[in-house]
Amino acid sequence: MHIVTNPARITEVVGQVELASQDEVDQTIGRAHAAYSNWSATRVEERAERLRAAASDLTSAVPQLTTLFVRENGKPIREAERDIRRSIELMELIAGDLPHWWKPEVFDSQQPVWARRRPRGVTAVISPWNSPVLLSFKRFIPAIAAGNTVVIKPATQCPLTVMECVRIASKHFPHDVINVVTGTGAMAGERLASDPRVRTVAFTGSTETGRRIMELASRTVKKVLLELGGNDPAIVLSDCVLDWQAVERMTNAILRAAGQVCVAIKRIYVHESRYDELVEKLAASFHAVVVGDGLRPETTMGPLNNKTQFDFVRGLIDRCRDKGLNVMTEGRKLDPADWDGGYFLLPTIVLGASAEDEIVITEQFGPVVPILKFRNEDEAIEQANRSEFGLRASVWTSGREVAATIADRLEAGAVFYNNHGIFRDLHLEFPGVKQSGLSRESCNAGLDHYADTYGFAD
Ligand code: NAD
Repeated sequence: MHIVTNPARITEVVGQVELASQDEVDQTIGRAHAAYSNWSATRVEERAERLRAAASDLTSAVPQLTTLFVRENGKPIREAERDIRRSIELMELIAGDLPHWWKPEVFDSQQPVWARRRPRGVTAVISPWNSPVLLSFKRFIPAIAAGNTVVIKPATQCPLTVMECVRIASKHFPHDVINVVTGTGAMAGERLASDPRVRTVAFTGSTETGRRIMELASRTVKKVLLELGGNDPAIVLSDCVLDWQAVERMTNAILRAAGQVCVAIKRIYVHESRYDELVEKLAASFHAVVVGDGLRPETTMGPLNNKTQFDFVRGLIDRCRDKGLNVMTEGRKLDPADWDGGYFLLPTIVLGASAEDEIVITEQFGPVVPILKFRNEDEAIEQANRSEFGLRASVWTSGREVAATIADRLEAGAVFYNNHGIFRDLHLEFPGVKQSGLSRESCNAGLDHYADTYGFAD
């Protein structure tokens, strides 16, 4: 049994989940496997209808789902609601795209050849705790839409909202099309990645776990989709306009979900001529952040999600201080009296770090960011690329063409101009490069990943 507590009040129990035994994981995979043959034979129009009906029920439940999500995850209510609404939007979007996407495409060369789609079987969806609803939906919705059955394994730290969403959505699908198994990564996760009946593993989480999943999945040659860790750089050029809107966008890209976002800005490289100004403006912006319980409307940044992450980020900041780096702690405590009862940290800027420092090379996944100076663009690009990760990057400048030229040289799945991180259009997906991921680029909201294309020759 695993107890889920509220990261803003760690003595408050939000719920509890069973940690599935090996037999239970095997039985769940068995049920998903048995349900596949009927589900894969359904018409795409029927699948689209079911998705729309489930989306409608989930929309009615948004207020309850949001509250539960804040209580188990910690993020402020506005951010939590946005995650849930975007998850539902994705269902509606896929329902709309499905019939057109499914249509065979004909290649008329020496003979007509039809490219037709076929689902793949059981898909395992393994998701992390930082954005569990959206990151589970981004994987399991296209998977079931394409005719696969799924077994979702949410992170034990934050499984409740995913389970509640699945409970609501499942009413609109035949039994065992959507399954959830709760359990540890070491047992339930590894079992899913190893079982020969699972044909696709869609994993979102750390690079270390991604490596292990690849290894296990290789034994039965599964298709593996990996969205992994990041250490995104932002490059601020000498001609950047640092008005309050730009600084606010940068602050959001660093501190959204208390920095526990794969595509957050995690390192800033600024031209030496603008260093003092950026430090001053970003510090002022961080200073205005109100840290507290995500359910309180005044809160703009919540706690970290769990003790392991809290201890890690706090330790990282302490080690910066011990090294003599300049650690600037900003922001305001909403309820100073309750501060020690939650995993709260104030937004923090670290100055004076060098390229080899832990705060620069590690994915901090928390509300702390180092700012480093550069003298010329080549140096900035070299520093930005000096990472095993390659999720996102951004260039802050008044010259769009300059940004595009630098983007060509940055090793990242996507590069943003005067902004950072998230595409508003859910159709767009640009996975990370290097050790940040392994999914081929896909639009169609990810549908392409979950079906094989086979040729039918006339
Ligand atoms: P994690 O890798 O520890 O866990 C992710 C999931 O994998 C959890 O459900 C966990 O139980 C499971 N797991 C753990 N060990 C496993 C194993 N040996 N076999 C199978 N499953 C196992 O990651 P986390 O701490 O939950 O999430 C934070 C990390 O996720 C950060 O590195 C972050 O950058 C990354 N992330 C990436 C994206 C992206 O889209 N690229 C999105 C969100 C988070």
